[in-house]
Parts: sequence; C-alpha cells; structure tokens
Amino acid sequence: MVSATFRFYEELNDFLPRARRKVEFAVPCARAATTKHMIEALGVPHTEVELVLVNGESSGFDRLLCDGDRVAVYPKFEAFDVRPLLRVRAEPLRTMRFVADAHLGGLARLLRMAGFDTLYDNHIDDPTVAALSAGEGRVALTRDRDLLKRRGITHGCYVRALKPAQQFAEIFQRLDLAASARPFTLCLACNAPLRRVARETVAERLPPSVQASHEEFLRCDVCQGVFWRGSHWRRMAALLASQGISAG
Ligand SMILES: [Zn+2]
Repeated sequence: MVSATFRFYEELNDFLPRARRKVEFAVPCARAATTKHMIEALGVPHTEVELVLVNGESSGFDRLLCDGDRVAVYPKFEAFDVRPLLRVRAEPLRTMRFVADAHLGGLARLLRMAGFDTLYDNHIDDPTVAALSAGEGRVALTRDRDLLKRRGITHGCYVRALKPAQQFAEIFQRLDLAASARPFTLCLACNAPLRRVARETVAERLPPSVQASHEEFLRCDVCQGVFWRGSHWRRMAALLASQGISAG
C-alpha cells in the first residue's frame, strides 16, 4: 500500500462526500494504481477531468501513484486556460457530436434543434452509449456517473440540471457551443438533415392557414415530417436566443 493526497477543484467536488470537498485528503492506494483508477475510485468520472497535477506537474491518466504523491484534479471547461499545460487527453473533439443516454430525450431534441448531431433512443442501453461514444467520437451525455466510467469513453459530460431547457443551457455554456450551432438544420425526431422544399410539394399535407401564412418549409429526408416557423418554432428560437444564438 502507498498513500497519496488528493484535492479536487470546483464542481468535481459535487461527486465527493461532504468531508472530502475542497480539502486535501490522504487515501491509501493499491500498488500500481493509476491516477485514473484512483480518481474514479473516489467517485469522480474521468470524463469530467481536464487536468491532473501530480506534485505540481501535469500528468496523464496512466501515471502510477507513489507514496506521498500530491494529486490536484481540475474539471473540464474551467474558466482558466489550461491549454499551455499537457492535458490528460490527446485531442479535443473537432466537431461536437453527441450520444445521449435513455433518460435525456428532451435534451437530445434541443441539441438537434440547435443543429448538433445527437444520437438518442429511449431504449438505448449503457454499453451502446459507451460504444457509440468511443467508436464515433461522440460526447456521451448522461446523469449516470457510472456510465462515464465505462471503458472506451474518452469524451463525456455529466449533466447536472434536471429539466431539458436547463440541461441545454448547461451543456451549451460548458462546451461553448454557440459558435457552432446551426439552428433548424436537423429533424428533432430522427436527427436527419432538413431540406428546404417548395410549398407546392407539401401543400396537401398542410392546413390551409399554414399554407397561407408561411413561405418557408423544411422537410426531413427520413420521416418526411414538414416544419415551418410556427409557434413551436418561435418557442425554440427564443430558447436559442437565450444562449445568444440567432435562429434567423
Ligand atoms: Zn425526421
């Protein structure tokens, strides 16, 4: 047995029991335990971690702990700039794509609304979420910290808020998504692209009042659903506007 001292910063403390929050504490570590192994054993999913300092030096997740090591663990997306330091992961994801767990259907629809490719199915199980995250480079979204500890997940996001609109705001701010949003380009139901279509091609499927009052119609390639700028659209546009995104 060796003993190392840990200190977790900012919201990572949410994962710890009260007595271990925002203080240094010593824990016994198995011989050959890595930083990742110990951080997860203490209850913090590694996907939430941006930076690990061991004795003041930036370290990877595979660093073996030695007796007397002092480990400082910082969350992802902290305000201060950690870029000059070595990160625990080789590369940030280039394009933000997501896979949501079975409990986050509302959030998945809102991300699609903002134009982010988001896989979701209410029957999706945790191994499938993990496999899609690892295999397709998707950020796994979940409120289940055990899911984020699964092997293979390198990019994940623990969702704190309970309601979809607040979850959406949380993820938007945390991952700084505003610049890459493309509102109303994906079908909320299928995650497939929406294309602009002429009114004549969809006219027989529209109520006369909608035909008369709207110029622009979008159709999903997969479910053939037709969308226009009605009241539902305006509510979603207002939600996007609250995150600084113009929906045109
Ligand atoms: Zn569709």
